[in-house]
Amino acid sequence: MGHDAANQAGDSPPDVDAVVVGAGFAGLYALHRLRGLGLSVRVFERGEDVGGTWYWNRYPGARCDVESLDYSFSFSDELQQEWSWSERYATQPEILRYLNHVADRFGLRSDITFGTRVVSAVYHEPSAQWVIETDRGHRVTARHAIMAVGNLSVGRVPDFPGLDLFLGQTYHTGDWPTDGVDFTGLRVGVIGTGSSGIQAIPMIARQAAHLTVFQRTPHYTIPAQHHRLDPDWLAAFKQHYADYRRRMRVSRGGLSRDYSERRALETPPPQRHNTYEARWNFGGAEILGSFADLLTDERANSTVAEFVAGKIREIVHDPEVAGRLIPHGYPFGAKRLCVDTDYYETYNRANVALVDVTATPIEAVTPAGIRTSAGEHELDAIVFATGFDAMTGALLAMDVRGRGGLPLTQAWEAGPQTYLGVCVAGFPNLFIITGPGSPSVLSNVVLSIEQHVEWVSDLIEYLRKHDLDWAEARREAQHEWVAHVNDVASRTLFPVGNSWYLGANVPGKPRVFMPYIGGVGRYRAICDRVAAGGYTGFDLGHAGPEEAPVPDAAPVLQPVLHATDAAALADAEGAWG
Ligand SMILES: Cc1cc2nc3c(=O)[nH]c(=O)nc-3n(C[C@H](O)[C@H](O)[C@H](O)COP(=O)(O)OP(=O)(O)OC[C@H]3O[C@@H](n4cnc5c(N)ncnc54)[C@H](O)[C@@H]3O)c2cc1C
Repeated sequence: MGHDAANQAGDSPPDVDAVVVGAGFAGLYALHRLRGLGLSVRVFERGEDVGGTWYWNRYPGARCDVESLDYSFSFSDELQQEWSWSERYATQPEILRYLNHVADRFGLRSDITFGTRVVSAVYHEPSAQWVIETDRGHRVTARHAIMAVGNLSVGRVPDFPGLDLFLGQTYHTGDWPTDGVDFTGLRVGVIGTGSSGIQAIPMIARQAAHLTVFQRTPHYTIPAQHHRLDPDWLAAFKQHYADYRRRMRVSRGGLSRDYSERRALETPPPQRHNTYEARWNFGGAEILGSFADLLTDERANSTVAEFVAGKIREIVHDPEVAGRLIPHGYPFGAKRLCVDTDYYETYNRANVALVDVTATPIEAVTPAGIRTSAGEHELDAIVFATGFDAMTGALLAMDVRGRGGLPLTQAWEAGPQTYLGVCVAGFPNLFIITGPGSPSVLSNVVLSIEQHVEWVSDLIEYLRKHDLDWAEARREAQHEWVAHVNDVASRTLFPVGNSWYLGANVPGKPRVFMPYIGGVGRYRAICDRVAAGGYTGFDLGHAGPEEAPVPDAAPVLQPVLHATDAAALADAEGAWG
């Protein structure tokens, strides 16, 4: 189907300048930005409305774990001035209201087709057009294909034997019923204790008659120390919003978070403890910035791990349960750090039980519940908080084909290879928003989305100004980038975490460290230098018989990386700050 469709693209101009897949933060901003450049755009979204992550993840307790004032768009000062977040970490309904407001305010809905899944995107070489097909029979040609499909948008349910025999209800946190779920009086099982499980468990425990938590890997989680935002404080804060955003853009994680340059191992233990205590009480992932060596030196890392273990023992009354909740076998922060409200306290409730499925594995789902090697747990409902096929799941679920009909699945057989996390050699004019190889999930994702969308639209604008039709990452530049991403990761403790950052939660998925860990400030500096060099590492060309690329002055990336390093070292407040 897809390939034949591409052959029909022919000589006529494309139906639209750009097709955008997805209408979460990324798709909405891509639409707004590209329309602002005068491009015609069509967005396809599988869901029935805007919101992406915040449309699908309606489970009880769902919130952002980056503070609301950071986790929001900065591209429009009017928008950030008129919108008032009510809490330090906004709830899912509030974030969804915000994204609906964005869609309405900028008049975005008219260009979005909802309830429609893109099934294929095939590149037609002679016309340099993408042919996009959907599950509802659309077939649209476009010069550019913008993949705003999300890093965490394809839920994973483990393949337990007997799952279809269960007589109760099952739910995935990432595909929660729009009308919510009432667990009153029910015996509920939650499988999974990552970010979503940790947020949902305390809420479900308060409603259900009984809750059994099935835990494979205990995760580190830090109390959010939530509070409402005082309107007067907020009004004063907004006067400096623009400056605040500027600092976030050159920071390490895209956050206002304060990273200390001190080293844990050079700090006397009582002082170190006080630092951890202060950051624990402040709440959220702030604790990761306590010392500069926490994610590079295992001995430094164990000091914060021990501090958190001490907190778990203090909070959880039953020492045996506390022992099961204490993470082990991987460094603190090397798997996504969770942020919670009352998570450990929940295990002091009489109606909550914790099952360690490493010691007593789940053997099967039965009509009445879940059977582990130690016996059966009778349940009325099962909640899968089992995460996502992260970073590549949604991209590879489509039939994406580049030059010569090469499927993306084949190009990425050994793991995702990208140039700057945004382009793939062999796939001209295909742009991935927060793709593997970009800071993405290791950053404030909204800020990273803005950077990507702006950078991609600048590139598209450059092509138009220079009367060019396509841009394609060069293979050698892509190799250099992948090597750089791996090199930076290997200097930290992250790869030891064996997490979904590596694809370790999906059986058979190639192990590649996917997010770029060099910091969003540094990453931005590299992307800017690539653009300033006339798109270093890209071939740029015309459609038609003279398809050959125009000569590129600066084909390789190495000088850009060196220049960026030198600039970063010269300005300690800069990219690494
Ligand atoms: C519970 C949860 C909490 C999170 N909290 C934070 C946080 O605090 N801070 C942070 O930085 N990040 C957080 N994230 C990450 C979050 O995914 C991003 O911050 C952000 O929402 C991603 O936006 P997006 O537009 O790139 O992708 P998404 O919001 O995932 O949107 C992608 C959209 O594309 C659609 N789509 C995918 N494939 C197709 C297709 N083939 N055809 C049509 N439509 C398709 C999907 O339906 C989806 O609506 C969280 C993620 C989850 C799951």
